Order: sequence, then structure tokens, then C-alpha cells
Amino acid sequence: MTAVLIIEDDPAIRTAIIRTLGASGHVVTSAATGIAGLTSAVDDNPDVVVLDLGLPDIDGLRVLSMVRAVSQVPVIVATARDDERVIVRALDAGADDYLVKPFGGEQLEARIRAVLRRVAPNAPVLPIIVRDLVVNPITREVTLAGSSIELSRKEFDLLHLLAQRVGEVVTKREILAEVWRQGYGGGDRTVDVHLSWLRRKLGETAAQPVYIHSVRGVGVRLVDPARSA
Ligand code: CA
Repeated sequence: MTAVLIIEDDPAIRTAIIRTLGASGHVVTSAATGIAGLTSAVDDNPDVVVLDLGLPDIDGLRVLSMVRAVSQVPVIVATARDDERVIVRALDAGADDYLVKPFGGEQLEARIRAVLRRVAPNAPVLPIIVRDLVVNPITREVTLAGSSIELSRKEFDLLHLLAQRVGEVVTKREILAEVWRQGYGGGDRTVDVHLSWLRRKLGETAAQPVYIHSVRGVGVRLVDPARSA
């Protein structure tokens, strides 16, 4: 259970976020202005703050600086401005991550999980459970509907990376960087081959995906098949 503070002046967006996060068992408080948000960030001690940058009373970047002056709480900024400079300024001002509107609930939840992992690296490592798929990073075991799946080291690392970011598109470049420790350029074929082996072991194909869905020209994402159906 995570306590999330939403600072957002648009009532439709605020309501949608509260509904989505509430349905996932998060405790959500919300504020419609920068001032109210600052007060809540201090008084309600949230685990994570989702901060809209376009607020009616104070600029979101100033709210961020003021929160940072008094708290280390992870802050995810949400911006309608698909403006790289604004995003860079927010990250420099202490934002932990950002979302460009419009964004889906699954992506928001994935980013919340990601920032919480980064601030709590010593938290107990738990198996990741996505419907019938269980990925255990300690034992490096994978089960699907209770049956053990034998994976090579790289296949496991690949599946673990995707499962950690369930619902989120992971680019091949990110996969190469995380699983193969390679930087830019080349190597897409390596990823494709391992994805194909992984899919076969999970009993699915690229043409008929269940958990692992390719997003053409972008990357791949692992989804909960019941939620994507
Ligand atoms: Ca706004």
C-alpha cells in the first residue's frame, strides 16, 4: 500500500488518477492548487507525489523546489507541455521522473513502482507476479501457471527486466543496456532472438502474444493478459 499525493488542478484528470490508483489499493490524497499541495506534502507524509506542472496559483517547478527544500519524497511531474526544456528543468529541480499527458493508469503505476524501488533499494526483494507468471529474482526461478520454466541467464534477465516494468514499453536500446550492458547502436538482432526463445518457452509467439507484446518500432512490453484482453 502506497500513499500517493496528487497535485493537479484539472478535476477530470484528478478523478481519473484517484480512481485508477484507488482501485490498485493505493491511498490517494489530492490537492487542486500548489499551495494546498505543498501543505499536504508536508502534513500527510505521502510516499510519492504526482505533481502537475501547470497549476493555477504557483508554477509547478516552484512547487517542486519548495517540496524539495523540506522533503526527499519522490516526485513524479506530469506535464502537458511536451517540451524537453521543461522536463529537463523539472529533473534538475529534483523530480524523480516525469509523465507527459495524456498518460495511462498502468504507466503511472509502473513509474510509481520504479521511483519507490529506487528510493528503497534495501527493501525485501519479492517475486514479481503477473497473473499466472511468477518471476523470482532471488532464486531466479520462473513459473507459469505453477509449472517451472527453464530459462537461460539472459532469458531470465530479459524477462525480469520486462516484468519489473509491467505495462510499460521497454525499448530495445534499454534492453541492450540493462541485460547486455551495451550502449547505443547495434545488437537489436540479439534482443529479437532472445525474445523469440523466451516467447517459445512461455508458449506464445510474436504473432499471438500473451504476456510479451511487441510495440512496432518502439520496443516490447510485458502485460497482464487479463487486463490487456
Ligand atoms: Ca494543470
